[in-house]
Amino acid sequence: MTTPDFGDGTRCVHAGAPPSTPGTPVPPQPVLAAQFHLSDSGDFYGRATNPTWRALESALGDLDGGECVVYSSGMAAISALLRTVLGPGDKVVLPSDGYYLARSYVREHLTALNLDVHEVPTVAKWTPETVANARLVLLETPSNPGLDVCDIAAITTLAHEAGALVAVDNTTATPLGQRPLALGADVTLASDTKALSGHSDVVLGHITTTNPTLAAQLRAERTASGAVPGPFETWLAHRGLGTLDLRLARQAENANALHKALSDHPRVRNLRWPGSPTDPAYPTATKQMRRFGGVLAFELESAAAVDSFLDAARLVASATSFGGLHSSADRRARWGDPVPAGLLRFSCGCEDPQDLTADVLKALAALSPDKPHTH
Ligand SMILES: *Cc1c(COP(=O)(O)O)cnc(C)c1O
Repeated sequence: MTTPDFGDGTRCVHAGAPPSTPGTPVPPQPVLAAQFHLSDSGDFYGRATNPTWRALESALGDLDGGECVVYSSGMAAISALLRTVLGPGDKVVLPSDGYYLARSYVREHLTALNLDVHEVPTVAKWTPETVANARLVLLETPSNPGLDVCDIAAITTLAHEAGALVAVDNTTATPLGQRPLALGADVTLASDTKALSGHSDVVLGHITTTNPTLAAQLRAERTASGAVPGPFETWLAHRGLGTLDLRLARQAENANALHKALSDHPRVRNLRWPGSPTDPAYPTATKQMRRFGGVLAFELESAAAVDSFLDAARLVASATSFGGLHSSADRRARWGDPVPAGLLRFSCGCEDPQDLTADVLKALAALSPDKPHTH
């Protein structure tokens, strides 16, 4: 069913649910078939169409406000969009501080297109010049890992005046946190590996667009390139989506508690969470975001300090990725992100706020006392 009049919790539970036919399952069920009995219409082969994809696409399209196409990963979604909309010599604007593989895919794997690649910081002063002659402007807000925020509506106006298409990587916010299509963007896309599926057991992605021609092109490209998601993973993501509202609420509660506990902490600097009124991203974030999630960032003095902190914390897994039930933290410089060696992206899970805060404070207190920061 479609659910536009309901609240977030109701929408997450009911989006994409099957009709209430007596004797059939209440929750969506996975259809794993590669072969279907042929008919004049309907499903025929598992690379082209699948009922389980349609159920999640209906749910995400409903929440995002457009037509959704699901992919086997967030990168499959991003790369499909780039391959579909960019032609030889086109100018593409990418976030210089966003997810690193979007940049390296363009620079290392689309070389044959001789693209005119512009990498722009999320908090740049965006002018008509920045987007002039661009075919595609990709934004990522809040950005991963720095959690900077840009004004989607304002940049979209500039980009549309220049004739460019605007896509927003909405992974960090999720459709509950932010609706880029309602702010004017042409495309919203995400890695659903993160908070959307939320249990750290699925790799999946999607694109939603208000442009039906683009949606049809993406679907055709997905069938031809074969970047299709497994129905079982698609079903797991749909199952996870049911609790997104609850999980985000707890994760944000944890992020708020940790932000309070860490904001004057002598070992912590450059603490970032767009949901805090003291954060530089807050004014723009409150203007365009509906709610905040559980991802923070902060710096400790060195890579070694991060290692000791993660060794000492009992409730914080040292792991990449974010948005799952379990709190985890990732030192992004390890992966080559252009950030300080001691920068940690911290993903609050669904533990109790008092337990998580106590654990983090205890692990910080266990750091060697010789090099605290001076404020
Ligand atoms: C993880 C992530 C991606 C890539 O998604 P995968 O599902 O890992 O392919 C893209 N963008 C952002 C912002 C991400 O965090």
